[in-house]
Amino acid sequence: MSQTKAYAAQSATSPLAPHTIERRNPKPHDVAIEILYCGICHSDLHTARNEWHGTVYPVVPGHEIVGRVTAVGAHVKKFKVGDLAGVGCLVDSCRECDHCKEGLQQYCTGGATFTYNSNDKDSPGLQTYGGYSKHVVVNEDFVLHVSDKLPLAGVAPLLCAGITTYSPLRHWKVGKGTRVGVLGLGGLGHMGVKLAVAMGAEVTMLSHSKHKEPDAKKLGAHKFVLTTDEEQLKSVTGYFDFILDTVSAAHDYNFYLGLLRTNGVMVCVGAPDAPASIPAFNLIFGRKSIAGSLIGGIPETQEMLDFCAKHNIVSDIELINIKDINEAYERMLKGDVRYRFVIDMATL
Ligand code: NAP
Ligand code: ZN
Ligand code: ZN
Repeated sequence: MSQTKAYAAQSATSPLAPHTIERRNPKPHDVAIEILYCGICHSDLHTARNEWHGTVYPVVPGHEIVGRVTAVGAHVKKFKVGDLAGVGCLVDSCRECDHCKEGLQQYCTGGATFTYNSNDKDSPGLQTYGGYSKHVVVNEDFVLHVSDKLPLAGVAPLLCAGITTYSPLRHWKVGKGTRVGVLGLGGLGHMGVKLAVAMGAEVTMLSHSKHKEPDAKKLGAHKFVLTTDEEQLKSVTGYFDFILDTVSAAHDYNFYLGLLRTNGVMVCVGAPDAPASIPAFNLIFGRKSIAGSLIGGIPETQEMLDFCAKHNIVSDIELINIKDINEAYERMLKGDVRYRFVIDMATL
C-alpha cells in the first residue's frame, strides 16, 4: 500500500478537506496513474452530501480523471510508463454476466465497482476512492487511452459528462434529421450539445437561464428556448424526436413530455433525488417514451474519446485550485460554471 494525498468529505455536512488515503500497490494487471486533472461532476456533489443516500464516509469523489502512467504490472499490455490515460466512473465489474460480456459494464448484474463510494474488491472492507487525489491504481481493462492532440484538462470531463451524453445519443440513433432538445446547460448539457451537433442533429438548447443563450449558440446549438417563457415554449410544443434531460434538481417531467412529437423519446440522465409522477396518458397520446441511461461501458467510452479526438471536441472548462473546491460546489449549485470545473491536481 502507498499513501496518497486526497480531498475528502467526512460527513454530509462537512466541507471537502485534505485527507490521506491508501492505494494498493499495482498488481500484475494494474496501471498506476499520476492524476493531472479531475473534472467536478454534479454526481460528486450529490454523493459528498449524501443526497442519494448510501454514501460511506470519508468519501473522495472524482470520476473524470486524466493523467500519466507511472507504473504498470507485469502482465499489462495496453499501457506503458509515460502514456496518457483516462479513468471514468468504473474501475471494475464481474466480467462474467451478459452485460459485462457485451461491454455494458455499467449495468453489470454482479455489481459494477464505481470509481468512488463502491466496495473495493481489491481491498476488502474498504471503499473505492476517486480522483480528487494524486494517484490512482486501476485494472488495465478499465483504463482508457487519451489523445495527446487535445488539451488534456478539457478531456477530463469527457470521462463522465462526455460518455453519459454520447451513450444515449448513440443508443437512440440520433443523427442527421433528428430534432434534439438538450434540457439543462451544465456540464452534461454542454457536452450533449457539442456531441449531438457533431452527429449531425438539429439541436435546441432548453434552458431556464436566459443569460446562457449566447453560450448555447457558441457551443453549436441551432436554437435556444427559454423554458420559463410560455411563448418560446409554444414554438417547440410537439417538436422534438429526442430530449436529453440533464437537469440535476427536481422538475416536472410532464412539462417536457409535451415538447415531444409522436414516437418521441425523453432520456433522463440528470438524477435528482425526487420521484417523478407521470400520468400514463402523457405517454399514451403520441406513443411517447421516457427512458434512462447510465454513463457508458468501457468500449463505448473509448469510442467516444476517439470520436472527440476526431472531431476536436473537448469540454469548456474553468480550471481551479483544489483548495477552492467547496466554493466550486456552491457555484455549481447556482449554475455559475462555464461549463465544467476541472481541478488542476498540481495544486494538491
Ligand atoms: P450541472 O453542471 O450542475 O448542470 C445541471 C443543469 O441543470 C444546470 O446547469 C441548469 O441548466 C439545470 N438546472 C439546475 N437546477 C435547475 C432547476 N431547479 N430547474 C431547472 N433546471 C435546473 O450538473 P451536471 O454535472 O451536468 O449533472 C447533471 C445531472 O446528471 C446530475 O443530477 C448528475 O448527478 C447527473 N449525472 C447522471 C449520470 C448518468 O449516468 N445518468 C452521469 C453523470 C451525471 P440551465 O441553467 O440551462 O437550466
Ligand atoms: Zn459524473
Ligand atoms: Zn458483470
